[in-house]
Amino acid sequence: MAENLPRAFVCGHPIKHSRSPMIHGYWLTQYGIEGSYQAVDIAPEDFSSFLKTLRAQGFVGGNLTIPHKEAALKIVDRLDPSASEIGAVNTVWLRDGLLWGANSDYHGFAANLDQCQPGWDKSKIGVILGAGGASRAIIYALQSRGFTDIRVLNRTVSRAQDLADAFGPTVSAHSLADAKVLLADAGLVVNATSVGMQGDEGLPIDPDWLAPETLVSDIVYVPLETPLLAAARQRGLPTVDGLGMLLHQATLGFERWFGVQPVVTEELRALVVADLGPKP
Ligand code: NAP
Repeated sequence: MAENLPRAFVCGHPIKHSRSPMIHGYWLTQYGIEGSYQAVDIAPEDFSSFLKTLRAQGFVGGNLTIPHKEAALKIVDRLDPSASEIGAVNTVWLRDGLLWGANSDYHGFAANLDQCQPGWDKSKIGVILGAGGASRAIIYALQSRGFTDIRVLNRTVSRAQDLADAFGPTVSAHSLADAKVLLADAGLVVNATSVGMQGDEGLPIDPDWLAPETLVSDIVYVPLETPLLAAARQRGLPTVDGLGMLLHQATLGFERWFGVQPVVTEELRALVVADLGPKP
């Protein structure tokens, strides 16, 4: 019966911008799974009761996005270490009557680099530009891959310091003004600021400071080629764009809800790229 088919969701407020239904819908079709994935708009005042009644609503789990990712930390029954360390939940699932919460962004970041630049984690020195929520997930990813020197550079240094305090001695906090020196021996630089998003021609750093052979990754994916990636590519440096992180982070939830580990294919990527223009 249709009501017994596994149903998953992405929940946010607003939610119409989300590309998650497109991604999960592609995989459901690809693997011939009779299930569904839908976007639901839930206002903050209704979020707690929404999350606590998932089973009654016929859901097996789902994704959470702005503004619910932090609120969920206190609502789920069990937290995966990824969620407690990163401080946000973006994937939930029911197991043995309990609601679990994890954060899949760190996995998305690392799996994307694994696919696009295998061996990216050989250098254990990484520079992260930005100290917001996404930066926390990237620190977690680098720590899980054994990086021993993670330099967080932010416009507001106190926010970077908060992250260094939270993640321990392998993480240090700096001003963006010190980027030139800090980039010199880094194997990886990640832009996790919102600088470079559509309509913003700015650069978080001076591209001339990029060291030869540094892998340059931007997690902004609209536009797909940010000004930073364009500058790095012109200098002949290896680059990885941010769309793969979005696609790869989705695999974790899909596997939990539907029991199949999906593959991020070129076809899926092309589908989302075609949709990357501004949505009404
Ligand atoms: P956030 O919490 O709002 O943090 C924004 C960061 O950008 C802060 O560090 C902020 O610095 C910095 N920033 C903003 N404007 C700046 C400027 N003009 N100059 C220098 N720094 C500036 O955002 P977030 O959630 O971490 O997300 C950051 C970006 O990553 C967004 O563009 C988001 O779309 C993208 N993202 C992509 C993925 C993916 O799957 N590819 C996943 C998550 C996020 P201050 O602290 O000084 O304000």
